[in-house]
Amino acid sequence: MKHTPFQEIVIRINKSLPQKDNEIAHMAMSRTRPLLAVRQRNGITTCLFCGNTMVYRETNRYAKCHECEKNVEIIEEDDWLAYKRCVPLYFASLEVIDNIQLMRTYETIFRYSVINQLNDVSVHELCRHWMTSEGYCEVTSLRRFCGAYLTPFRSMVLRNSSTDNEDYIANHAIVLPNMTLLSELDGKLDMYEKLIQGNILATIKKILKPNNSHI
Ligand SMILES: [Zn+2]
Ligand SMILES: [Zn+2]
Repeated sequence: MKHTPFQEIVIRINKSLPQKDNEIAHMAMSRTRPLLAVRQRNGITTCLFCGNTMVYRETNRYAKCHECEKNVEIIEEDDWLAYKRCVPLYFASLEVIDNIQLMRTYETIFRYSVINQLNDVSVHELCRHWMTSEGYCEVTSLRRFCGAYLTPFRSMVLRNSSTDNEDYIANHAIVLPNMTLLSELDGKLDMYEKLIQGNILATIKKILKPNNSHI
């Protein structure tokens, strides 16, 4: 497979990039908790964000926790047990390397104990989007098998075909603080664009794409 010069650069940096899973786990835990509350059959409902317990019997899917005042999604205990008390969330970091805007997307799994206290968070980096101010984007990601990422293998490969899966999770990630941005992105992001969950990658690409570009 013949690579473009930009792909060659991506492949080179991609190989040498240090892992920072522990750092991400730390930030993920301090940044947010899943907004869920587990309801037992007797109506006793535990907020997973703050740990508060309340009685909630209404049929609405969302409720406001009396303690932390967050809007939490109600999950029935049977479903919670079927999920093995685990909640996956995606987080992303934004950094600049060699004038390339790099977005790294991590799957974090929040695991809870039998008394619904947060036990630990495990982190796997799944994919990287490499973007330039000229509007180029390349994607590297973990090897996949039958649609699932092979998380025991750390090495990432350049995606030559569809990146729909990588794009989806990057769009739906929660952006971590301490981001660094290309100057082309920086001003425009505070001025009239925001990184909203569900649209993050698309927003970055839209800003970086030059108006006269045919790429
Ligand atoms: Zn090559
Ligand atoms: Zn709460």
